[in-house]
Amino acid sequence: MYAAKHGHGGPVFATGLDDHARARLTTLEELRAGLDRDELVLHYQPKVTVGPERRVVGVEALVRWQHPVRGLVYPDAFLPTAESADLMGRITGAVLDLACRQSRAWHDQGLDVPVAVNLSVSNLRDPAFPDQVAALLERYRLPASALELEVTESVLMTDADNALQRLGTLRDMGVRLAVDDYGTGYSSLGYLQVLPADDLKLDRAFVSRCGTDPRSAAIVHSTVQLAHSLGMRIVAEGVEDEEILDRLREYGCDYAQGYGIARPQNAETATAWLAAHAAVTAAPAHR
Ligand code: C2E
Ligand code: MG
Ligand code: MG
Ligand code: MG
Repeated sequence: MYAAKHGHGGPVFATGLDDHARARLTTLEELRAGLDRDELVLHYQPKVTVGPERRVVGVEALVRWQHPVRGLVYPDAFLPTAESADLMGRITGAVLDLACRQSRAWHDQGLDVPVAVNLSVSNLRDPAFPDQVAALLERYRLPASALELEVTESVLMTDADNALQRLGTLRDMGVRLAVDDYGTGYSSLGYLQVLPADDLKLDRAFVSRCGTDPRSAAIVHSTVQLAHSLGMRIVAEGVEDEEILDRLREYGCDYAQGYGIARPQNAETATAWLAAHAAVTAAPAHR
């Protein structure tokens, strides 16, 4: 591509990097404008019990950017840029607002389903974050148990003391906490020792293979036991078929999420799904 653009003997500048930097700048400018124009939308993916009755225990809010030209943009395509430009505070603020507003609407329709929101590392660097959450809950007249916050262990990689203190404040308010993508990245048992979480979400890398790969099966099985020993509920991510669900039941896994149960859906479709699956379930007892 480079050669075609400049021909032989053309300038040997870091053209690729320039393109990359330009694309990043464009994304950033558009994202800032998009935030001003409320272009972020949420899709919701249900979380159900693994038992035969398959009760709905919550939904996870997943952000998408409804771009005027590019269409629906997925988080992996803009969150890293947002993160590096200090925009995650605004994005999480917008996501929390949308999630709480939806939770209120569901509550008013008799669909009492807790909503989980993903946090980024930078959210917990902000000393005002717990107060922002409290203000939103109050604004939408929601009990703290209506909200769950998902964090990866990476929130403890820098400034762990402050992050832990803020997570502790949120949990004391009654907000549920989940460790997301457990088992990947920089996860270590040391984090589990100190993170005050209610739920452990086991990454789909292990879950999706536990029906065919004995090593993955052993990891899933023992992580269920580990979570339970720590007083946590365990959520299997990325459940794509019934066979996996049978396996998870056998291992004593509590909850499951995945395309095989329900895909993330826009608010309207999710509402119909929840109504059809009678999501009139209270949040599981908090602690
Ligand atoms: P995550 O929190 O681990 O969310 C699960 C991701 O896996 C979602 O991708 C979901 O659509 C996808 N998924 C669910 N079930 C299955 C399955 O059965 N098979 C497969 N292959 N994938 C499945 P999505 O929506 O593209 O989000 C990707 C990541 O972006 C999320 O991973 C989360 O880390 C981040 N993210 C999404 N929304 C937000 C947000 O509002 N704030 C922040 N900070 N991060 C977010
Ligand atoms: Mg998540
Ligand atoms: Mg995850
Ligand atoms: Mg993930």
